[in-house]
Amino acid sequence: MYRTHTCGELRASHAGQTITLSGWVHRRRDHGGVAFFDLRDRSGIVQVTINPDLPKESLDLVANIRMEWVLQIEGIVQLRPDGMKNPKMATGEIEIIAREVKILNPAKTLPFLVSTDTDLADENTRLKYRYLDLRRERMTHNMVLRHKVIKFMRDYLDEKGFIEIETPIMFKATPEGARDYLVPSRVYPGQFYALPQSPQQLKQLLMVAGMDKYFQIARCFRDEDLRGDRQPEFTQLDLEMSFVHRDDVLALVEDLFTKMLPAVTPNKKLLSSPWPKFSYHEVLEKYGSDKPDLRFGMELFELNDIFAKSEFRVFQSTLEAGGVIKCIIAPKSADMSRKEVDALTEVAKTFGAKGMPTLGITAEGVKGSASKFVTPEEVEALKSKTGAKEGDLIVFATDERKVVNKVLGGLRLWFRDKLDLADKDMMAFAWVVDFPFFAYNEESKAWESEHHPFTMPKMEDLDKFDTDPGAVASDAYDMVCNGYETASGSIRIHRRDIQMKMFQMLGLSDEEIQAKFGHMLEAFEYGAPPHGGMAPGIDRLVMLLADEPNIREVIAFPKNQAGRDVMADAPSGVEPKQLKELHIKFE
Ligand code: ASP
Repeated sequence: MYRTHTCGELRASHAGQTITLSGWVHRRRDHGGVAFFDLRDRSGIVQVTINPDLPKESLDLVANIRMEWVLQIEGIVQLRPDGMKNPKMATGEIEIIAREVKILNPAKTLPFLVSTDTDLADENTRLKYRYLDLRRERMTHNMVLRHKVIKFMRDYLDEKGFIEIETPIMFKATPEGARDYLVPSRVYPGQFYALPQSPQQLKQLLMVAGMDKYFQIARCFRDEDLRGDRQPEFTQLDLEMSFVHRDDVLALVEDLFTKMLPAVTPNKKLLSSPWPKFSYHEVLEKYGSDKPDLRFGMELFELNDIFAKSEFRVFQSTLEAGGVIKCIIAPKSADMSRKEVDALTEVAKTFGAKGMPTLGITAEGVKGSASKFVTPEEVEALKSKTGAKEGDLIVFATDERKVVNKVLGGLRLWFRDKLDLADKDMMAFAWVVDFPFFAYNEESKAWESEHHPFTMPKMEDLDKFDTDPGAVASDAYDMVCNGYETASGSIRIHRRDIQMKMFQMLGLSDEEIQAKFGHMLEAFEYGAPPHGGMAPGIDRLVMLLADEPNIREVIAFPKNQAGRDVMADAPSGVEPKQLKELHIKFE
């Protein structure tokens, strides 16, 4: 038997018991001829004191032991003397007095220290030795938290009558707006499976199959550009329900996450319950983003009325061109230096701004680049509309509406970080609904689906398909939290005629439709029930719950930022024989 207990479970109540433990040497200390080890396993750390009366050969053995060696220890649990107790350690009231130490496996000197939560090694080194990186307490915590989140989801959905069904990884292209990963067939030369970008089609077919309430902890594969915090494969809680309207799906998911929070992360607070619900247009106007961070205010204000007769050229020309003037109020920032404002203007430009007029409200009056051009009446009107007060900086954006919202939405987050406006323990969940159905792609001059092509349009907008596609609203919804899109979903098309129309709108020929989605269209002819669902992203969610800056920290074996597995070195070349079998030749 390797062990009778785990390291982290031992308490004062075990005092006097003879026990056996197995684990890693977390730290070692020598004090006045006595050796102390902190022994670690996944459950925690316990202090082991080597009895100096052990036979000499045992003590000689112990003298060689280094960090991260794997040991088996037999000993007696003993209360630590008063004054030696460590209230910071869960096992801090006791220690193990070792009677026997067995070396199960030594370890080379590690490429980095695992007994600290500070990242001492660069990320590629951590990923190359991920099995060592995961030994660290912070990373173990993240893996355990991820497990708890997934277990809560499974238990909750089981309770609500959902069944978990696996769907194939080798399938046919299932578009979610990215490139597909393809798997060449050995048996059918020139033919490929596609890895699903989500189980979207399959879960809908499960509804046609009468499965009623389905879920899956599903892996999704999207070959996207590597910018941002993305992984080629990621995990979603994929779910789908029959005979539901939008609000049935939202109520279920809201209840799941509201109950999950106290169960898995009692330190996190929910900003509001019920969660706020915004229309897509409303969030863009108010927060400049379709995934707003609601943990702080700083809303956008529209000022066209106040500046209708402005003398300021920038404002005048914006209004003449049919644009908008909007602002945000940055608290306690009126005294930002010229240099800081210039640097911020550069930030604004990255979001598409041409300039960034500002107005600081100070005890001596207004300052900043707009101050020379605004009248005292306009300043008063501004204050009363926006609530700006002494010490605040008014930051303006002027352009067409889309650009203005994007610029101020971006600056809003910049100020959030600079002024530390968001409580990191707050989870500000919200719903965004009523998305546009189509998005016009200026480059390809074609309509694309804003969500995915299986999303149902609002029934009342069906007749606008041909006349005014841009005005069609969709029955899609997003769940957002702290500035991230944490889930998206929709009520689905379940009628062949509407689905056909949708594909045609996207510019697919009848042959293409048949080849790509014939199976879906056919299924809809055999009594497809009305259905809808959504798919919360598990990586992003666990990242937020774990206070981690990116999703790689909550995935056991992620790819690095260049899309490589640096541990196993993948992707990598394959044997010429394999290529031949797959009928692949390189040019
Ligand atoms: N397929 C998902 C859904 O609508 C969305 C997604 O994967 O992002 O349920």
